[in-house]
Amino acid sequence: MKITRISVWRMTLPLIETYALSGGRLTFEQLDTSFVRVDTDEGLSGWGEACPWGHTYLPAHGPGVRAGLEILAPALIGLDPRALDRVNRVMDVTLPGHLYVKSALDIACWDILGQASGLPLWKLLGGADANPVAVNSSIPTSTPEQMIALIRAASAKGYRTHSAKIGGADISADIARIEALSAALPANEKITFDVNRAWTPGVAVQVLNSVSARDWIEQPCETLEQCAHVAVRVRNPIMLDECLHGFQDHLNAWKLGAGEGVKVKPNRVGGLTKARQIRDFGVSVGWQMHIEDVGGSAMADTAAIHLASSTPDANRLASWLCHYHLAVDPVPGQGARNIDGFATPPSTPGLGVRPDETLLGEPCACYEVRQ
Ligand code: MG
Repeated sequence: MKITRISVWRMTLPLIETYALSGGRLTFEQLDTSFVRVDTDEGLSGWGEACPWGHTYLPAHGPGVRAGLEILAPALIGLDPRALDRVNRVMDVTLPGHLYVKSALDIACWDILGQASGLPLWKLLGGADANPVAVNSSIPTSTPEQMIALIRAASAKGYRTHSAKIGGADISADIARIEALSAALPANEKITFDVNRAWTPGVAVQVLNSVSARDWIEQPCETLEQCAHVAVRVRNPIMLDECLHGFQDHLNAWKLGAGEGVKVKPNRVGGLTKARQIRDFGVSVGWQMHIEDVGGSAMADTAAIHLASSTPDANRLASWLCHYHLAVDPVPGQGARNIDGFATPPSTPGLGVRPDETLLGEPCACYEVRQ
């Protein structure tokens, strides 16, 4: 089997409401996503999506995905898409780094492998069953009262884990948010206070040692080293997110003792092949992991849910579903959706999600078989 054509679509995904992170320092109104279809000479086609949330969130942006695909896609024409390690080696030689531009291609090849073998991705990734994955809410930065109201609304939809976005210049406001939300949260629900790298180490140590915070603190500072400095000086377990890009960062995080948990996001680390390596490392060192994607439609969410579902219970925390924040649905009703607080990966062969191409319009790029 050989790859004969790779087509790329760009789509704007408007958010239902403007989303504020990091104490309001970062705001988002729409996402720029790229869909990729990989066609083969045996009639099978695979789909993948790459959406780096917004361009201020990570050193990644939507146009960058498509610029990278311009370099990567021609190099994959003629390769067997089922040979995932080879596909990834060719991508890494053709364009070192730039992991986020590789994920859609990698996921599309996994989709083809699944269809060719008649197996869903959760099984190919090591799962025994299509385990339902708990989903977590995502609560934007606001006043304590408004954040508590949003948590209660999420609880009514079945969410039992919440990610509350905090962090900002006003230390007293963050202390008030942490105290109020921790006190208001029912005993059977969990919360992560996601700082989105807004604090300096001094502020992090000061805030976290003056509150009674429930559960986890996520990405308190900008860098891995700063988070490690904080981790040994506070009581709560630390979850790492934006400072982790490739496997080496995860290895360094472990060596530094920088946290007890990590976010594993296929788009950020280059797709399911590399995310699986990181997930397996995380299982080996005993981390607890949120496995979800950086952003995108239910297609990107579903790829991550396949990996989350195949992860041992003890190492798997909840997963966030980006598509619940979107005002559009390019894969209507398909894939992993929230049902009473849980998302279950499809059990059809492959990824189990195919967009309605009439909703995508014309491809913005097409890379064909080389003559
Ligand atoms: Mg985060």
